[in-house]
Amino acid sequence: SGHLPHPADTRIITVANQKGGVGKTTTAVNIAAALALHGLGVLVIDLDPQGNASTALGIDHRNPDVASVYELLLGEVSLDEAIAQSTAHENLLCVPATLDLAGAEIELVSMVARETRLRNALDPEVIRRRGIDYVIIDCPPSLGLLTVNAMVAAKEVLIPIQCEYYALEGVGQLLQNIELVSAHLNRDLFVSTVLLTMYDGRTKLADQVAEEVRRHFGDKVLTTVIPRSVKVSEAPGFGMTIIQYDPGSRGAMSYLDAGREIGLRAARTTGEGQPR
Ligand code: ADP
Ligand code: MG
Repeated sequence: SGHLPHPADTRIITVANQKGGVGKTTTAVNIAAALALHGLGVLVIDLDPQGNASTALGIDHRNPDVASVYELLLGEVSLDEAIAQSTAHENLLCVPATLDLAGAEIELVSMVARETRLRNALDPEVIRRRGIDYVIIDCPPSLGLLTVNAMVAAKEVLIPIQCEYYALEGVGQLLQNIELVSAHLNRDLFVSTVLLTMYDGRTKLADQVAEEVRRHFGDKVLTTVIPRSVKVSEAPGFGMTIIQYDPGSRGAMSYLDAGREIGLRAARTTGEGQPR
């Protein structure tokens, strides 16, 4: 795989869709792995209490000694202390999620600066010193305070959309929330990328969904589509990304291509003049 350009400024991308099971986590870890393989420094922040991204990146997040994003949000550890090395690639780092993050959604409500905790924790000095070109944030399946923290910390939103019935259900609400965050908390935020996931070329439905999403989001939708494949769903069980688990598979190739597209779009991803 050829190398991608280092972006001038670290790109912070939130992977969001409040629907569960649409491929957020799979997309977050595999896009991250693809960018790392393409020669870039990548940090994944796991904001889902289930910790599936941490698992896929080979982080032992059930070990009580592992510092986590929960302690980072509470200000108990520094970004440096919260970062763990992924086994997926030497360029790939992760702030893991532990189960105590499940309580954070409620605990955050009464905290000072509850929406800006993650943004404030992302120390630019650490990001620069660690050579981090991309921060990819994996969100839980809700539009609660953890997702709001992710949207406040990021500039870009990547929306994975599953090529299934009701694919666009809830997307209007997601866009409304993005608009609210951009109006009140983070005016730089915008939807930069839409990725079609779990595409089954044998069904007419998948094509209809893809067409509808492209009509709705135009060129924000990546040309690359992620196929439905059993191997993609097997990889996390081995603590691996699909790119590690079976690099020659269609799933791995498509995530490598999608990562390349995102990396090459760097030049035209300023929010200025973007319809929100
Ligand atoms: P989310 O984070 O949005 O809940 P996940 O990434 O965890 O979604 O995916 C939901 C389930 O679907 C997981 O079991 C995952 O392994 C599986 N999956 C994700 N992408 C694919 C794919 N392209 N083909 C087959 N299974 C997939
Ligand atoms: Mg998930």
